[in-house]
Amino acid sequence: MSKKVLVLGEVREGVLRNVSFEAIAAAKKIASGGEVIGVLIGDEIQTNGTEMIQYGADRVIAVEHPHLNKYTSDGFSQAFLAVYEQEKPEAVVFGHTALGKDLSPKIASKLASGLISDVTGIEGEGNDALFIRPIYSGKAFEKVKTKEGLLFFTVRPNNITPLEQDSNRSGDVSLLSVEITNLRTVITEVVRKVSEGVDLSEAKVVVAGGRGVKSAEGFGPLQELANLLGGAVGASRGACDADYCDYSLQIGQTGKVVTPDLYIAVGISGAIQHMAGMSNSKIIVAINKDPEANIFKVADYGIVGDLFDVIPMLIAEIKQL
Ligand code: FAD
Repeated sequence: MSKKVLVLGEVREGVLRNVSFEAIAAAKKIASGGEVIGVLIGDEIQTNGTEMIQYGADRVIAVEHPHLNKYTSDGFSQAFLAVYEQEKPEAVVFGHTALGKDLSPKIASKLASGLISDVTGIEGEGNDALFIRPIYSGKAFEKVKTKEGLLFFTVRPNNITPLEQDSNRSGDVSLLSVEITNLRTVITEVVRKVSEGVDLSEAKVVVAGGRGVKSAEGFGPLQELANLLGGAVGASRGACDADYCDYSLQIGQTGKVVTPDLYIAVGISGAIQHMAGMSNSKIIVAINKDPEANIFKVADYGIVGDLFDVIPMLIAEIKQL
């Protein structure tokens, strides 16, 4: 049976995040020939609708309001629920991002719905679809399906391949007027950490450093390697606790979850809490001077050596390509 599916498009700094296109591809599988409707929430956000359509949405509904200028779960849930009430879909898809993780449980509980979170793959289509999600900090995967009611799930960034962008696709992008009232939270100021280059959560290549890097300056060569590979720098909590880098770079159970095509772990021992955030990377390279380091258990390629010798060698080789 075909389904009507709502997909939340996530916009940061005026640009749709890739996970929105991945969520559309997931929605298409579930819709099974039904309608996929993009939802945009913000202030002056309607213009992003065209791109959602080019990536596979059939139409887009935008909710614009000055109070939605910055994300609050209160404001965004009011906006999303208004679209939900109008459309009465059979399924809802969000990205498993900081925003999605915050908003999806709130909306699911308001709708008295279940929630399949952190989906990394979908087998089958429509009602027969099985959702694959990691459990036990990524040590195992389970396959789940819903029996009845609203199908609500979030997709982990970088796991579901988006459809090819088709600039000839067209569809309706409409505005829904929603009264946003009684906000309990108002964001008065956003103090932004300035980070350059590729977004860590969506990077295809991550070069992550641990306590073995030994200093903030030691992260310089890691940044150079990441830049050469078009990637981003990440870190273990050990490195963040030691003040070598900012906590916004932390990967793991209490940090970011990343699934790049290539993860290079440099001077990281491979604690379970770190692996919870990176063990699903497609190819893992570990550089560690201790041949017994736990990280080698999940690595596809291991280099036993001193990172201060290995990283400059890698940089020199890549520069020659
Ligand atoms: P270490 O364990 O000290 O490892 C350093 C490694 O560098 C060693 O393997 C060593 O052999 C190697 N090394 C040293 N010098 C060199 C050299 N010159 N060349 C090559 N290799 C070298 N950790 C996270 O990362 N993310 C989390 O989200 C997280 N959440 C946590 C939540 C909880 C509740 C708890 C209790 C812990 C959490 N941790 C987390 C901490 C985790 O348990 C580890 O303490 C941490 O990951 C260790 O960081 P590390 O691998 O950089 O340091």
